[in-house]
Amino acid sequence: MLKVTCYKCHWSWSLNNEAVRTALESLKPDATHYTLECPKCRRVNKIPVQQLKRALPRTSSPEEPEGNE
Ligand SMILES: [Zn+2]
Repeated sequence: MLKVTCYKCHWSWSLNNEAVRTALESLKPDATHYTLECPKCRRVNKIPVQQLKRALPRTSSPEEPEGNE
């Protein structure tokens, strides 16, 4: 889960893991920021990709083979 605070109106809301994962998947490989519109004032907030990645729990487990990348 990722908590976001709008830089403009200071409204804060959170993205669940699914939303964070979807956001990461929609990014270009060389993207450094994800842009997210504030639900309250509609300003675009830039979220560093690192922050998105940190928000997700680690999914790597030896019991889950993932060789599609
Ligand atoms: Zn806002």
